[in-house]
Amino acid sequence: MIGVDFGGTGIKAGIVEGGRVLRSFDEPTPTTGRAEDVLDAIARAVLALTPKPESVGIAIPGEVDSEGRCWGLPNVPGFRGVNLGVRLSEKLGCPVAVENDATTAALGEYLCGHGTRFPSFLMVTLGTGVGGGLVLGGQLYPGANGFAGEIGHINVDRSEGAPPCGCGRRGCLETYTGTAALKRMFKTFGGYDVAGIKEIADNARAGGRAGLDTFQAMGEWLGRGLSAIQNTLDLNALIFTGGISNAFDLIEPSLRTALRENCVAEPLAEVPLVVSELGAQAGVIGAAHLPQLGA
Ligand SMILES: [Zn+2]
Repeated sequence: MIGVDFGGTGIKAGIVEGGRVLRSFDEPTPTTGRAEDVLDAIARAVLALTPKPESVGIAIPGEVDSEGRCWGLPNVPGFRGVNLGVRLSEKLGCPVAVENDATTAALGEYLCGHGTRFPSFLMVTLGTGVGGGLVLGGQLYPGANGFAGEIGHINVDRSEGAPPCGCGRRGCLETYTGTAALKRMFKTFGGYDVAGIKEIADNARAGGRAGLDTFQAMGEWLGRGLSAIQNTLDLNALIFTGGISNAFDLIEPSLRTALRENCVAEPLAEVPLVVSELGAQAGVIGAAHLPQLGA
């Protein structure tokens, strides 16, 4: 089985067996602004693994409609209205299934990770963007238009000074829980400019006030957003993935407190909170299983 995780900066193709990536091939995502160049790079990555693929599944950094057309990719220009499945199927000579990356990671986790214990869960992606994929009653649920589980743009702050979001609105959950938000909050709390989240986590683990305050604030905002999800869906678990989830132990206490404050009933607030078992591999593993779903 072949899965491809196509992101804003890189394309990772892998041969998957069960829950493991046996062999993989990486290519940088072309930055020419032409979809054709990106599709060629994806095809090259797949063909580098096997000259005659039987079927391929692809995770993409955006949403797909029920016809397989892409609504447009926020970080890769040129894809509005492109049907990646049809175009790649022509290039590769085999069926190609396409799905949103967060939804695909949720599928990987459902089949091969923590999801095997939880029939209904939201897989929360914490990184540059904040998103999610939903499994309900043992079924992947992409939604009527492919947008299910995309929690990053839930409004959590209606105040006038709410931070602007990449989507053009203000006060979205992502503006308090994404990578840029953590860097901004770390400085506000008396920290300094950092290149990545690891520096903030190191500061917090060494007892630094700015680092500790940053993760505490992030956990509170995340808890407010996720309590709305819990009050609506009553899930068996919330599973976390993405770069920031490496610091999940620092976020969890205030996240749990916010869930207790905002969920309407105790069992909703005490939902298991776990970090993905598959980590960065969830996308490729989930993608490899997409063709079986007929996605
Ligand atoms: Zn937004």
